Amino acid sequence: MSGKTRVWLGLGSNLGDSRRILQKAWQQLGSEPGVNVLTLSAPYASDPVGMESENRFLNAAGILETDLDPDALLNLLQQVEKGFGRDQKTGGDGYQDRLLDLDILYFGDHVINSGNLLVPHPHIAGRLFVLVPLVELDPEHRDPVTGHTVKAMRQELLRRMESGRVVRQQIQPEKWG
Ligand code: AMP
Repeated sequence: MSGKTRVWLGLGSNLGDSRRILQKAWQQLGSEPGVNVLTLSAPYASDPVGMESENRFLNAAGILETDLDPDALLNLLQQVEKGFGRDQKTGGDGYQDRLLDLDILYFGDHVINSGNLLVPHPHIAGRLFVLVPLVELDPEHRDPVTGHTVKAMRQELLRRMESGRVVRQQIQPEKWG
């Protein structure tokens, strides 16, 4: 791949000093060759979605530019996750508590289905803790598959929660400092 691609990343942690882990992970990504970090959203505290856990999550989204290809970026993200003490993924659909989770939400306008990489990330539309920080960063950003903006996707999810079609998700903005 030539040239730089803009990437929207999801960051999450529900173990340890999550605020510090997310900040450090973002800093570390910025120091990697081939990666320029541009903007990090505020952190948001959220209840676990799709898993049972006592531990609330801290989530954020970030925009970076990279000249790595998607698989190389995924490899790098997995190395950074491991560096923060996260073991191998559970595999399958299993969700677990985690010190650090880094997901590629959007990779430019690319649509990828390569076995170990699905982009756009399949859970964006159903998760307020992904959509709210994305809207903070870039409300008009359009999903390359549906053409919907992230702002419209957030509104649609809120409507589905209000009508009881999906379980309500709690999310609160926090501060980094
Ligand atoms: P999780 O435990 O939710 O972080 O799932 C990570 C697994 O999802 C890894 O094995 C990745 O290969 C796979 N995966 C598929 N699509 C993505 C994506 N867009 N970003 C990060 N991981 C992904």
